[in-house]
Amino acid sequence: MAGKIPQSFIDDLLARINVLDIVESRVKLKRTGKNYSGLCPFHKEKSPSFTVNNEKQFYYCFGCGAGGNALGFIMEHDRLSFPEAVEELAKLAGVEVPRDESRVDHQRELRRKDIFALLEEASDFYQEQLKQHSQKAKAVDYLKGRGLTGKIAALFGIGYAPPGWDNLLKN
Ligand SMILES: [Zn+2]
Repeated sequence: MAGKIPQSFIDDLLARINVLDIVESRVKLKRTGKNYSGLCPFHKEKSPSFTVNNEKQFYYCFGCGAGGNALGFIMEHDRLSFPEAVEELAKLAGVEVPRDESRVDHQRELRRKDIFALLEEASDFYQEQLKQHSQKAKAVDYLKGRGLTGKIAALFGIGYAPPGWDNLLKN
């Protein structure tokens, strides 16, 4: 569920929903001319100073200064994070939230697999050198001196890096 939500989707979502519907399902409102007003859910008050302007799609409280659009309201009122609030509104609008990074994640996964494959190839190469290289005796003697049998060497994937720096590249 990680990933950035595209701004175009958020704009589209805000155009689909009505701030009045969102607020009205949580706060008791009364129509006053063009606006709707009620008791502010964000501060304690006895006379309504909380207003919703449906034409401009925002809410504003003259008492505490709380204000914003439908997304801001749902975040503040329901104590949701930004992505959670977007999910909530998308549910109401009946749409799926797209994620920008799903493609990037996939590429990262592929790259990770490539690296593992490469490491395995390198490991195979060095293990092969321990069996085949003309100077392998030096390495084998050393391992035997340390009490390592061929079996153990194979089990732990111990290899031999022959002299030189580009053996793996030339391979
Ligand atoms: Zn208020």
